[in-house]
Amino acid sequence: MPLVRAYIALGSNLGDRLGQMQSALKALAADDRLKVLQISPVYENCAVGMGEANDFLNAMVGVETSMAPLALLDYCLEVESQLGRVSKGEWAPRSIDLDIIAYGDEIIEHERLKVPHPRIAERDFVVHPLCAIAPNLEILGQSIAHLAASLPMDRLKLYELKLEIV
Ligand code: AMP
Repeated sequence: MPLVRAYIALGSNLGDRLGQMQSALKALAADDRLKVLQISPVYENCAVGMGEANDFLNAMVGVETSMAPLALLDYCLEVESQLGRVSKGEWAPRSIDLDIIAYGDEIIEHERLKVPHPRIAERDFVVHPLCAIAPNLEILGQSIAHLAASLPMDRLKLYELKLEIV
């Protein structure tokens, strides 16, 4: 299986947010079919549409993987459930959320997996972290730097702590 560069978004707005992202990253990196190559800064953003929910922490990692797309999805879901993810619906608070944003330059329209992740262009908390590690990546016919330039960053704040593989 050839190695493919993929990008995975991490988010959390429940409990020890950074700790859970750190654990998710460690779990991802523990599989020898996946190597973490890049880690974006962490951003904090307001959880719009969730009432009084906590602010999210978001980050992006660039990985190289020999997993096929659905195997990578299953692996992300496994890591989420290992970490005891609690979530009820798309806009519900979540202890950890892993989304596959890009998988090489493949366009995947599977019932379980849509890549590039739908609605990426309107999500500041996805585009800006991705831009920090892969500004030249092309998604939906545009570079990430171009998408980022048209998305205000005013809801995002650089978080004081870093995401690391510990
Ligand atoms: P969520 O609760 O928002 O993380 O959604 C999880 C579900 O979204 C998974 O069970 C996947 O089948 C589906 N899904 C579709 N596309 C993607 C993607 N690019 N990355 C992660 N999950 C996806």
